[in-house]
Formats: sequence, structure tokens, C-alpha cells
Amino acid sequence: MAAKDGVRDIVILGSGCAGLTAAVYAARANLRPLVVDGHDMGGQLSLTTDVENYPGFEDGILGPELIERMRKQAARFGAEYLAGEATGADLSRRPFVISVGGRTIETRTLIIASGASARMLGLPEEKRLLGRGVSTCATCDGFFFRDKNLVVVGGGDSALEEAGFLTKFASKVTVVHRRESLRATKIMQDRARKNPKIAFLWDSAVVDVAGKDRGEGVQVKNLKTGAITELKADGLFVAIGHVPNTKIFEGKIDLDKAGYIVTRGGSRTNVAGVFAAGDCQDHVYRQAVTAAGSGCMAAIDAERFLEAEGH
Ligand code: NAP
Repeated sequence: MAAKDGVRDIVILGSGCAGLTAAVYAARANLRPLVVDGHDMGGQLSLTTDVENYPGFEDGILGPELIERMRKQAARFGAEYLAGEATGADLSRRPFVISVGGRTIETRTLIIASGASARMLGLPEEKRLLGRGVSTCATCDGFFFRDKNLVVVGGGDSALEEAGFLTKFASKVTVVHRRESLRATKIMQDRARKNPKIAFLWDSAVVDVAGKDRGEGVQVKNLKTGAITELKADGLFVAIGHVPNTKIFEGKIDLDKAGYIVTRGGSRTNVAGVFAAGDCQDHVYRQAVTAAGSGCMAAIDAERFLEAEGH
């Protein structure tokens, strides 16, 4: 519920690990936060499978289950949820005004936890075939590729995680990487190299996807020789990193040149009363546990800000 004047104390944009942790803390401080789900409800964790490095779950936990538990935990203390995406924000006045699906919400503090979205290769046919052979989410689409040949692009943890997951269904997964050494962590590399269904194509880039209504193959260019070869593939999984979801804040708060929100002194942005947490302000660690930690920081910072302002 909003206060009598209709102004909320805390609005949290984003319901991933950072936003939900902020919601747990803000709700336990009796601030009844309103969590705006955004277009990626649950964030990156809801698109992943086993999470083995979140403390407290010795046998691991599924990403969507972890998110569901956090949602319920925050709701138990009074957090409220609003489905929809924030399309505008006026941060030039206080209370701030946030637009969500035709509604406007006034709030004394704002926690931005809008996360980051999958980066695409920018191929001519990539968008047309998205969901029809081209995917950015193995967890969502892997099931459809039983006994198929698949290509994963990327050399980071995401690419190897996607490749490993896809071998549960596919007969072969080829990881196409633009260099000859991987960026992924050692444990992920070891796991992928030991997996007999995973092959690597080094110094290579996917330059086109073939297929009328479904992906049928990809064109791969050797970046050292320039030679182009056709690779038969029923699916192309793009796993080349993410772009922060901060477009609506351009020109309103300080962003770095990649679009990540600049935070200082904890979770503070350059606008008093606006805080940021999780992947939208972190291009270094980007882990569930660091997102959760920064969500906690943002809620505490917002609470202290409200207190200092006499609310
Ligand atoms: P990342 O570490 O930034 O790796 C992106 C990969 O995509 C890099 O190998 C990069 O190549 C390649 N790439 C980027 N743009 C490309 C383009 N236009 N064409 C072709 N290749 C391109 O991103 P990430 O793998 O999503 O991982 C992000 C963070 O999440 C990391 O901190 C990672 O540790 C974490 N993460 C952890 C887990 C886990 O622990 N289970 C799982 C997933 C992610 P270069 O190497 O040449 O730059």
C-alpha cells in the first residue's frame, strides 16, 4: 500500500536476485516496497538451471526455484508486485514519478535493479529466426532440440553453461569462439572439455544463419584465414554476454560508456534518493550472490535516506 498521500516510500524496478533481495530488506523495515517486475520477470536466474554457487544450498538449487522462494519471502513481509515494465521515469523532481503501463507511481526513493539482457550477434537473419532455431536461452529452448546438432557462440561461462545443458538433449554441440582461448572460469572449461558431446571451433565467427522457417545451418568464418564454411546446425544459441537495461535512464542518471549505472558509496547514484543494484550497475562480478548483496545494500541505503529525510 502507498502512504496516505499516495506516495510510495520505495519502488524497486526489477524482480531478479537484486530486486527481490532489496524487497526482502525493505519489507522487513516496514517500508512496503512495490516491486515492478519488468520484461524479464525473475531476471537471469529464472533463465538458468542449476545454481551451485549460491551459499546455503549444498546440493544446488534451480534458478527459477531460488527466485520463487525470494518472491515469497519478500511477500511474507509485505512486499507488493506489479506486473509490467517501467517505460518512463522523471527523476528531476521529488517524489520521483515512474510510468508503468499507462499508470504513474510516485515514490520517495527508487531502487533500480533492472538487470541486463542477452546481447545478439546482429546477423541479418538472427531476429527473424529468433525462437525458430535461434535462441539466447538453452533452459527455455533446449528441450526442442533432442538428437540435433547445435551451435553455441561465445567463450564465457554462459556459453559453456549453455553448451553443457544442451548436451542433455542434443547429439552434438559445437562452441564457436572468436579467439583460441576461453574467457570462462577454469571449472567450467574443464567440465566442457571433458564432455564428449562438446566440440570447439576456435578463431571463428558465425556470420549468417540459414533456414527459411527454421534454423538449418550456420556460416562460420575463420577469422585468421577468412575462409567461410557451412556448418549443419538445427539451432544457434547466442551466449555472448549482456547489455544493461538502463535505456530509460539515459541522460537522467550517470551511466558509464557501456550503459551500466555508476554507483558510489554503496548503491548511491548521482541522484539523491535513487539507488542501483545488481547487473544493471555491475559488469565485473555479475553473480547471483553479488546481486543479492547489492540489493541488500540498496535497501539499507534507501531506508537510511528516508530516515534522514524524516520519513
Ligand atoms: P562474458 O564473460 O562477458 O563472455 C562473453 C563471451 O562472448 C566472451 O567470450 C566474448 O569473447 C564473446 N563475445 C562477445 N561479443 C561477441 C560477439 N559480438 N561475437 C562473438 N563473440 C562475442 O559473458 P558471460 O559468459 O555471459 O558471463 C558473464 C558473467 O556471468 C561472468 O562473470 C560469468 O562468470 C558469470 N556467469 C557465471 C556462471 C556460473 O558460474 N555458472 C554462468 C554464467 C555466467 P571474448 O572472450 O573474445 O571477449
